[in-house]
Amino acid sequence: MQWLNNGNTSKSEAQMNEFVHKVMLSPDFKQEHLTGFDAHRENLRLDNALDESSLRAQFTENAIDILVPSGAIGVPSKIFSVPGLLHRKLTTVISDAFNSPLSHLYHFSPFKLYHCSPVTKKEERIFGEIYTSDAFLNEHEEVQRHSPLPPDDPECKREKIVAALMFSSDATHLTNFGNTKAWPIYLMLGNLTKYIRAQPNSGAMHHLAYIPSLPDSFQDFASKFNCKWRTQKQHILCHCRRELMQEVWKTILDDDFIYACTYGIVIQCIDGIERRVYPRIFTYSADYPEKALLACIRENGLFPCHRCLIPKTAISRLGFADDIAFRIEHARTFLADRVARARNFIYKSAKPINGTDVESELRQTSSVATMNAFVARLGKKFDPSKMLVVDLLHEFELGVWKQLFTHLIRLLYAAGKGSDELVTELNARSAHMQPAPHSHCSYSSYLCRYRQISTFGSGTIRKFSQNSSEMKKLAARDFEDLLQASIQIH
Ligand SMILES: [Zn+2]
Repeated sequence: MQWLNNGNTSKSEAQMNEFVHKVMLSPDFKQEHLTGFDAHRENLRLDNALDESSLRAQFTENAIDILVPSGAIGVPSKIFSVPGLLHRKLTTVISDAFNSPLSHLYHFSPFKLYHCSPVTKKEERIFGEIYTSDAFLNEHEEVQRHSPLPPDDPECKREKIVAALMFSSDATHLTNFGNTKAWPIYLMLGNLTKYIRAQPNSGAMHHLAYIPSLPDSFQDFASKFNCKWRTQKQHILCHCRRELMQEVWKTILDDDFIYACTYGIVIQCIDGIERRVYPRIFTYSADYPEKALLACIRENGLFPCHRCLIPKTAISRLGFADDIAFRIEHARTFLADRVARARNFIYKSAKPINGTDVESELRQTSSVATMNAFVARLGKKFDPSKMLVVDLLHEFELGVWKQLFTHLIRLLYAAGKGSDELVTELNARSAHMQPAPHSHCSYSSYLCRYRQISTFGSGTIRKFSQNSSEMKKLAARDFEDLLQASIQIH
């Protein structure tokens, strides 16, 4: 069976040799095992065995209930069940992580890291890891001083530590044609160094959940139920997608997790010592549309930032001193009361989702009428906009950077007065991997042969293997590499 499923779709001579040596001549190969053999049945048995033992078995499947407004006064809203949320229990994932093969590398206590310049002899604070950040130091201090012990174990003397949760999610298309998509949520622990977390095969990333999409049957349901469907379709769909995302997070942040946040969970760590672990959410990494969804704001609204209330018209002042001051002064907070009032208008008074009553509550901040799951579960002290962090590629958006890169290539054509000499040089140099001459810093050395940039670290920036100017079959990470490399060779 292993030979059949080895991933090769056509069988070659080498494959046949493998079959004879590894299967037919294997010491545990017995002819009688094959009596009544049926390849289809064996494949099914293999699938079932994998289902039971594998990661899939740790996931539970839930339906998510969202409340759909009726649009008519006196008609109560109805619940629609969205099937297919696959998720693992958050507290179990955290406990497992503390016993994973990497857990001996976890930092339980935060610290400050300094660099002493050999020239000036001055000390400089280094911020590079979650466990050397002020956020972790403060949280650790807070947990030591103020975290209560559970009522069933008030004399607990176990060491208290913080588990720094880092979430990320990104919807992914699985096919070139069609709409099949997966929407995974991942969890990493900031107690582990980023140099290990960033390695694709390190096992530091834990699968937490797969978010379902609104099924097609939702439109059938809502078109019959909501009397304003014909004119309000887009708004209702948008609203329900937001509701779905927040309901998914309310399910993930379950009661056990909230209990763990308050009283900690006792985990026997890899060194055999039991510690009381307090999970704290530090970061959430996502692209802009998902950030807008998570922060409960309008995408590209009048106030498009999820962290502050900078108006769209003032974004061009980015980097000015008054702009920085404004962003700090006008940090965004989640206005739960306004959202509650707007929801009343929609669900109780049957006002339109984009109507004036709802807008009067939300428009000044570009908020939406959806209750944030993180605030609802963790309390008003939790600030959802602060956890949503900057992610280079996601801030640029792949399409925008692609256009910019195309423009740079066009500039090269223009600088070469229409000939493709410079572009050819970019591509040709790439193939030879010659060291870049430092003597001249002309235009041609600007797009200094992407191919000459060697693989960085253990794979953060990979060698560019094809002609980068043609941009053929590049994945998002390749574009991120091109972007990072173009900043450095500039
Ligand atoms: Zn901002």
